[in-house]
Amino acid sequence: MKTYPGISASPGLVVGQVSRLEWERNTFSHTPLNPEKEQTLLEGAIRTAQAELQVMQDGSAESEQAIFMFQSMLLEDEGFMSEVRSYITAGIGAAAAMERVGQRYADQMSAMVDNPYMQLRGVDILDVTQRVINILGDRPRTRLALDHPVILATEVLMPSDFFSIPSGMVLGVITSEGSTQSHAAIIARAMKIPAVVQVGRAFLDDCDGRMVVLDADNGVCILDPDSASRQQMVTRMWERQQENAELARYQTLPNRTWDGASFELLANCFGPEDIESSIQAGAAGVGLLRSSYLMLPDRVPSEQEQYFFYTSCLSVAKGRPITVRTFDLGSDRTLSNAYQGAQSAHLGLRGIRSSLLRPREFEAQICALLRAGARGPLKVMFPMVTDIEDWDAAMKIVEHCRQSLRERGVAFDENMSFGITLAVPAACLTADEFIRHGCQFFTIGTNDLTQYTHAAGREVTSAARYYQPASRAMRKLIKMVVDAAHEGGIPVTICGLAVGDPVNIVEYLRMGLRSFSVSPQNLWEAKKALVEAYAEQNERLPVPAEAEGPAAPPMPEADGPDTPPAP
Ligand code: PEP
Ligand code: MG
Repeated sequence: MKTYPGISASPGLVVGQVSRLEWERNTFSHTPLNPEKEQTLLEGAIRTAQAELQVMQDGSAESEQAIFMFQSMLLEDEGFMSEVRSYITAGIGAAAAMERVGQRYADQMSAMVDNPYMQLRGVDILDVTQRVINILGDRPRTRLALDHPVILATEVLMPSDFFSIPSGMVLGVITSEGSTQSHAAIIARAMKIPAVVQVGRAFLDDCDGRMVVLDADNGVCILDPDSASRQQMVTRMWERQQENAELARYQTLPNRTWDGASFELLANCFGPEDIESSIQAGAAGVGLLRSSYLMLPDRVPSEQEQYFFYTSCLSVAKGRPITVRTFDLGSDRTLSNAYQGAQSAHLGLRGIRSSLLRPREFEAQICALLRAGARGPLKVMFPMVTDIEDWDAAMKIVEHCRQSLRERGVAFDENMSFGITLAVPAACLTADEFIRHGCQFFTIGTNDLTQYTHAAGREVTSAARYYQPASRAMRKLIKMVVDAAHEGGIPVTICGLAVGDPVNIVEYLRMGLRSFSVSPQNLWEAKKALVEAYAEQNERLPVPAEAEGPAAPPMPEADGPDTPPAP
């Protein structure tokens, strides 16, 4: 008996025989091949691959569909496929060309050690390129034919491996490498297949055909367990079943207040991982995608990398709308502090002010967003817009990007909606002007609006008493924005940490807001608060009279306490 520690990627406990899954090396002819013929073969193989991916997508659970959608989209990607075609033109066979480009893209992404999201997409690229190579070589797409249930052991598992093996045949998964955030791990969790990753090479060399206890609750594998540990596992498996049976179920109620007003509940997200969990928790979409978190500490991602990111976000959102906020960076909120999640209280060149000073980078982002918009419902908003000059300058760049995409002949969303994040009081006070200049939606950012309205840094503990997201001043500003939006006939959403507070969200509801974007962990509480609230009760009294108290008092007793400052 020997214990191999790893990391749990999907909880569960199982005992079974191990089957080692091996990678087969591709071999290609070195003779130059007819480019036209190879090109035609490639087109056919791509069609077949996409049809196969569609079948897997249709047959998979919601959380997995996006993975196959992403793989299918790669086969239509302009940059990727034009690189493959240029190799073919140079006389390299379609399969070899696919492998070269796929490997290069995958290596590039795997090298992004500071960006786990990009690293994980590398495995998908290898998976889908191997599928096309197998089709071109008329080889089976499966890596293993199983006739009895086993625990699979391999270096790294591909998402499609799960689908090439009859269901019920995989009891568990053990990988020597791999990541808990990989797509294969996501699928394992969705399919409730216990999985442990990173057990190390020694396990693989040793395991084929032997018995293993896969204790994925604790992230360990016990090879050749003795009878005492086997018995212990069986007892724990039984106890676990009992616990699962007792798990509470969440009610799904329509998004309507007690007095019948409909509302929209969205999530504030960072990328595909939390978009997916937010959608599962009931979010109708993403009200704020903080694109800055796609950043690497030392460089801005290229148009192509961003395009992958946004399309991946769209595919996990499965048709639900996503509002992306363009990079919120600046001299006082640098690439690396945005990456680490550090906030800024400085009054410098942040958000759109900084983007306008770096037009090449801004254009790359806008082009990536416009292109991704052709793949799903994407809206774009600019952060830290202060006056109409900011808006006009940003939209001039948007128009320039549209024109350049037309010239490049690339598909993009001609009708994408553009809006602003209202975080600067000056913009709230002149909200109607933006509508007159073509702004199509507003999103109120309570985190920054609070700090700029109250001149209190959101992370400055000593000024916490001044950081009041639902103060009278805030409510006046919010009301102005809501009124301007209603008059101008454009949608308005409110986002930020304060919105996740049940007391504040009801306050905002009564001010006429019907669209809320909250942190994923607050979705259920926010929904409960809204479902139990009256929307109309205080609608005509959203802003208490000025005489009611000092400049920044706590909220009136009946409304409950103010939201604590953002962490
Ligand atoms: C906000 O300012 O309200 C907001 C949600 O943005 P961030 O927290 O990313 O500054
Ligand atoms: Mg903000």
